Amino acid sequence: MKALLTDFDFNKIKGLVHDFGEPEFRALQLYQWINRGVSFENMSNLPKTLTEKLSENFDASGVSINKNFVSKDKSVKYLFELRDGNLIEGILMPHSYANTLCVSTQVGCRMNCAFCASGISGLERNLTCGEILGEVISANNFIGGDLKNRKIGNLVLMGSGEPLDNYDEVSEFLKLVTDPNGLNMSERNISLSTCGLVDKIYRLADDGHSVTLSISLHSAVEDVRNELIPASKANPLSEIKKAAKYYFEKTGRRVIYEYILIKDKNDSRYDAEKLAYMAKGFPVHVNLIMLNPVKEKNLLPCSLRTAQKFQKYLSDLNVSVTMRHSFGVDISGACGQLRRKYIH
Ligand code: SAH
Repeated sequence: MKALLTDFDFNKIKGLVHDFGEPEFRALQLYQWINRGVSFENMSNLPKTLTEKLSENFDASGVSINKNFVSKDKSVKYLFELRDGNLIEGILMPHSYANTLCVSTQVGCRMNCAFCASGISGLERNLTCGEILGEVISANNFIGGDLKNRKIGNLVLMGSGEPLDNYDEVSEFLKLVTDPNGLNMSERNISLSTCGLVDKIYRLADDGHSVTLSISLHSAVEDVRNELIPASKANPLSEIKKAAKYYFEKTGRRVIYEYILIKDKNDSRYDAEKLAYMAKGFPVHVNLIMLNPVKEKNLLPCSLRTAQKFQKYLSDLNVSVTMRHSFGVDISGACGQLRRKYIH
């Protein structure tokens, strides 16, 4: 397979342009076309001799939109097609202030959480930084955005995959998507959601990243969490709390705990008290989510009344808490419903 140009940072593009014997100013032109999702033949201000030579050895894009599904709530699910025929999913959620795009970081997932569709057939492969970037580029392009007029304001790394299980590519992706010569996003507008891989949380902080860290907690009772999230056996709650606090201290960013409410599993007053303890000692916000049903899994959401009671227990314990609205349930685009597909 050809090398993928969205995997290249600006310095590498400069080197490439230099190797092809072109003047340096061509590098920015080329880099911007790539970040706008434009094909070689449409890079109109570049000499044809250059784009032809480039296309012999490189692909300008590694992601295309194979299909999109529009939900009643106006969110859109994209089926992104990769060069090897794998399909991954992403969701665009419209908000009055800015669009939020949810991207995948792996094809499949090896975490195998009890409530989630993404891990059902295991991990197929990691995405490269340029493929993750390609999801953003093609969605932005698809809705008429550009570099100067970017139509995606916020990103969430919450699609299929465990971002911290693909740490190097995800970290590089964050550098690419925040490059002022490219899409120029800010890490302040990016959330990374993890099932809590403790050593990688420290690394994220130590590498100078400052994304919003969302930890999928789902239970603050060790046995229950172990049952829901197999990876938590190696990442106990006490260690997660320490790592989350460290992340806050390094970045100054409040940490988010994601908490799916599952009937009779994690929705009691006792569960709320344990959760409140996990949220004490440094700034944490809890996002409650009603479980979205996944047909292979026999877990149910709790009732709305139980959810409201759970939220009140938490706020009575002085925990900052909101209930998160699920987008795209009717198009199987909601949290936990994204899964791997393949064509060809
Ligand atoms: N692996 C990462 C990111 C992917 S999941 C993580 O675990 O955080 C993104 C979010 O969707 C997580 O909070 C995850 O726990 C949640 N989720 C997964 N399955 C769900 C379901 N069936 N209903 C509601 N949320 C779900």
